[in-house]
Amino acid sequence: MAFALRTIEPTRFGSGWLSGVLSAAFGLVGLGAVLCFLFPEALTTPEARALYPLPSIRGLLHLVLVASFVLGALSLSLRRNKALGTIGVGATLLAALLGGSQIEVERELERGPFLGLDWFLLNLIVYSLVFVPLERLFARLPDQGVFRRGWRTDLAYFFVSSLFVQVLTILTMKPAMVFFDWAVNAQVQAWVRQWPAAAQFVALLAVADFTQYWVHRAFHAIPLLWRFHAVHHSADQMDWLAGSRLHLVDIAVTRGLTYVPIYVLGFADGPLFAYLVVVSVQATFIHANVDFDFGPVKWLLATPQFHHWHHAAEAEAVDKNFAVHLPLLDAVFGTMYLPSRWPSAYGIGEGARPPSGWVRQFVWPLRRR
Ligand SMILES: [Zn+2]
Ligand SMILES: [Zn+2]
Repeated sequence: MAFALRTIEPTRFGSGWLSGVLSAAFGLVGLGAVLCFLFPEALTTPEARALYPLPSIRGLLHLVLVASFVLGALSLSLRRNKALGTIGVGATLLAALLGGSQIEVERELERGPFLGLDWFLLNLIVYSLVFVPLERLFARLPDQGVFRRGWRTDLAYFFVSSLFVQVLTILTMKPAMVFFDWAVNAQVQAWVRQWPAAAQFVALLAVADFTQYWVHRAFHAIPLLWRFHAVHHSADQMDWLAGSRLHLVDIAVTRGLTYVPIYVLGFADGPLFAYLVVVSVQATFIHANVDFDFGPVKWLLATPQFHHWHHAAEAEAVDKNFAVHLPLLDAVFGTMYLPSRWPSAYGIGEGARPPSGWVRQFVWPLRRR
């Protein structure tokens, strides 16, 4: 018998690894969901609460907890290293002790400060259901597994950014409202809102990516800002989760400035919502470990190959491909680099490299050198 968080045994089918991973994942997600039921006011997103189909969620939660327990027991019996099975079974038992899928929910919740634990769980479930199979089926680097180097660090980023969704939303919207209220013109906004939704969406994408392009370029060019953005470039393996590796200062400054023209122009809610969905999906997708060849579309929209070159360690690719949506911006401003091959290595080629781990990367840019 052994207990190690490092993988010390084979991971092939029948070794108890897959059952252990699934048990731990299901157990922790189930425990997180039970905590959301237990502390809805503190841990769930007010806008989302009203939309949850609670009976279905309870049914699904029940299945997840049962599956975690059974898979955990299977892993414990197949595998000498008991870590995964113990985490899965332990989390499931704790979830059951707290009330399991039948836990009562308080009514009459008030709107106050909250952590988006539900937001994290939903994003984790949806994104991993889409991207894990996609990367297994169309991997550019098939030998790079789901649990590649640095995945824990990136999951921590994913966790923290989702948990603090409220704070990050305020940090995105407030600066524009406070400092750029003078630029708002009711006639201009009314005119913009008259456009067809599709035209507003395209304009919004172009305006947002134009701003993002220059903010991103500044993060590369100004040493003080680069310290924060170097964290994003410290990933030396690329997949969908690596896109989450962003320092909170990087997120707040980039989103806060990108939101300014969106706020001033006053786009309608529909196009704005569509943009928010597209930016979060595309920003994730362009990091993914997939070898899709988009043909001529790659000159029109940012693709994994385009953004992988932004992360390349090769000297000729440094400070290239800043756009998140429209490569045209890089073509116009002279920073396009898109050969038909893929980078041979990722990460920071020259200069100081941030340490590993979320906490150390958080304080690294703030320290005097
Ligand atoms: Zn960058
Ligand atoms: Zn990136």
